[in-house]
Amino acid sequence: MPARTGEQYLEGLRQQPREIYLGGQRVEDVTTFPGLAGGARSLAGLYDMQHDPNLKEEMTYASPTSGQPVGLSFLATRTKDDLARRRTMMSRWAHTSYGMMGRTPDFLNVSLMSMAEAGDYFAQNRPEFKQNIVSYYEYVRENDLTLTHTLVNLQRNRRPAATSRHFSTDVALAVIDETDAGIVVRGARTLATLGPLSDEIAVYPTRGQQLANSDEAWRYAFAFAVPCGIPGLKFLCRESYDLGRSQFDHPLGSRFEEMDAIVFFDDVLVPWERVFLYRDTDLCNEISSATNQYTHSGHQVVTKNVAKCEFVLGLASLMVKTLGSESIPQVQSLVAELIEDLEIMKALLLASETGAALDRWGVMCPSRIPITVARNQFIRMYPRMVEIIQLLGSSSLMALPAEADFKGPLAQHIEQYMDTDTATSKERVQLFRLAWDLACSAFGSRQVLYERYFQGDWMRNASVLVDEPLVVTESLAAKFFTFLTRPLREGMFFS
Ligand SMILES: Cc1cc2nc3c(=O)[nH]c(=O)nc-3n(C[C@H](O)[C@H](O)[C@H](O)COP(=O)(O)OP(=O)(O)OC[C@H]3O[C@@H](n4cnc5c(N)ncnc54)[C@H](O)[C@@H]3O)c2cc1C
Repeated sequence: MPARTGEQYLEGLRQQPREIYLGGQRVEDVTTFPGLAGGARSLAGLYDMQHDPNLKEEMTYASPTSGQPVGLSFLATRTKDDLARRRTMMSRWAHTSYGMMGRTPDFLNVSLMSMAEAGDYFAQNRPEFKQNIVSYYEYVRENDLTLTHTLVNLQRNRRPAATSRHFSTDVALAVIDETDAGIVVRGARTLATLGPLSDEIAVYPTRGQQLANSDEAWRYAFAFAVPCGIPGLKFLCRESYDLGRSQFDHPLGSRFEEMDAIVFFDDVLVPWERVFLYRDTDLCNEISSATNQYTHSGHQVVTKNVAKCEFVLGLASLMVKTLGSESIPQVQSLVAELIEDLEIMKALLLASETGAALDRWGVMCPSRIPITVARNQFIRMYPRMVEIIQLLGSSSLMALPAEADFKGPLAQHIEQYMDTDTATSKERVQLFRLAWDLACSAFGSRQVLYERYFQGDWMRNASVLVDEPLVVTESLAAKFFTFLTRPLREGMFFS
């Protein structure tokens, strides 16, 4: 099946029975279940874009195996133009939710592409694992499937002594048996964003929870993918932030709930052909950097960040115009921060593409440092962006009638007292409900938490960056030392 339509995506979810629980209930059909249906519809809209006559060219490319149009985020990038083309496509998807859906399917499509292209990495573990990852990539691409992923084990105890093995082995996902058919896994993982709205789940290790070299470590050393409906797999959703309110009242929550879920694996049999790494802790620990998966997914993340910055800046500028505060110096300095944020993200995205190079697998890979800097920066940037919206909005974020109030007993008062010099009362309320959903609602708080943690713990991620440019820093330090110890007459500047 070539690139899917929205209806084909929804039908795929309906056709694959899976165990999803929300609010103490089993969800039979995620496409109609309150709290999940809105997000499913938004995702369906993304797939429809692949069939829009005006966008099709931008959103798809000819499959190298079937010749049919397939999603462009699966493209194996060979040139810088390919990267730019992929970014244009991902930007289209990011802008449909203004960056509020971090897990549009391109996030994992680009990861899967990079892993398949690095097939020889997996072959070092077992020769057949190369074919497994390549076949899986092709299967997902040709069927345009939606993936969720989970990298992190649940933890019982974070005290350093308890985490010397980096996770609680009694709750962590582990291999408990091995048969002719595959490996059997048991345990719990967190957090599968988009889990209930996905067709498949990818499970692989993370740098955040490195595997120790111990006798038992092999039990936790694996990478695999299975259908979300595989027997024994259970998704436990958090409370939904789509509260069933109108799009006027909850403009973001009603549309862009992508849902996060804990995943329980009750003796799930993973067929051998779906196993990509097994028992090799070193290969597991290095999967992300060796395959450049983290950098490719970062290309999607930073593209999304740009869309999010544009949205927050646009919102802030409409807010201050509506309130008539746009010429006040302290208001301008807050808006200027948002402009700086946007420009920093755009510059880093561009730098990652300009500095891109073919990696050892023959894939054009964005430059890793600008991507990592942008990812790490955004962890601090986004909470501040939300704070700026709160500072600009102040009581206007609380003096907020609901849609029903415009037809209620005080409708006349709302009309009379709530307009501004530039907006009718309805326009003002609509705008500030949007700002509220971004900066004050449960949906908005989850966005902040998401940006802080979805890519792992920020402090431990920071160490990755310090490790990266160490060579550069050390050589600069060496040059500087030479300069300091050189007699002055030999010159003041580095050569
Ligand atoms: C909304 C959201 C969506 C997410 N989606 C996904 C997803 O789809 N897939 C996925 O795999 N992951 C996802 N994650 C990421 C993942 O679930 C974790 O949040 C992340 O890896 C951090 O782990 P933790 O939450 O257990 O934090 P903890 O490890 O509990 O850390 C909490 C705090 O304690 C400190 N800390 C704890 N232990 C240590 C230690 N040993 N050394 C130093 N500092 C420590 C940390 O610095 C941090 O500030 C998501 C997270 C969120 C919030």
